[in-house]
Amino acid sequence: MDEGNIISILKKHELRVTDCRRDVLHYFIDSGHALSTRELEETFGQYDRVTLYRTLNAFTEKGVIHSIPDSSGFARYGACHDTCGPGTHRHDHVHFKCEECGKIECIPSEQVPMVNLPGYTISESNLILAGTCEACNTLPQQSVSQ
Ligand SMILES: [Zn+2]
Ligand SMILES: [Zn+2]
Ligand SMILES: [Zn+2]
Repeated sequence: MDEGNIISILKKHELRVTDCRRDVLHYFIDSGHALSTRELEETFGQYDRVTLYRTLNAFTEKGVIHSIPDSSGFARYGACHDTCGPGTHRHDHVHFKCEECGKIECIPSEQVPMVNLPGYTISESNLILAGTCEACNTLPQQSVSQ
């Protein structure tokens, strides 16, 4: 994706363009899978952590990325699609965690099933499926490594 597109996505989501925001968004779009804060910290060592975390918070608020619950203790984020904007996230897709390579992917084609709970108001629902991802399933066993 070229720089012009990255900048227009930031503007569309009411975000001022900074080097950090531009670089992080670029990385999200190119990577194609959910990213953990640890991975982002390692990749963007040139930015201090506060700047990086502020960028992630701003992206989450403005509907550029969404956080994905994960038991590893590191927050993970996936890129949003055109349906999300400032203050609104419109997606309830499931996530898949690969036990072989550790990647978490958004599965936009599959929705979290609706649960009807009379008397309760549901504001959020999450479903994480675990197993072996498509890429790992097609690799010969010995070349799969952490
Ligand atoms: Zn979203
Ligand atoms: Zn995998
Ligand atoms: Zn997702």
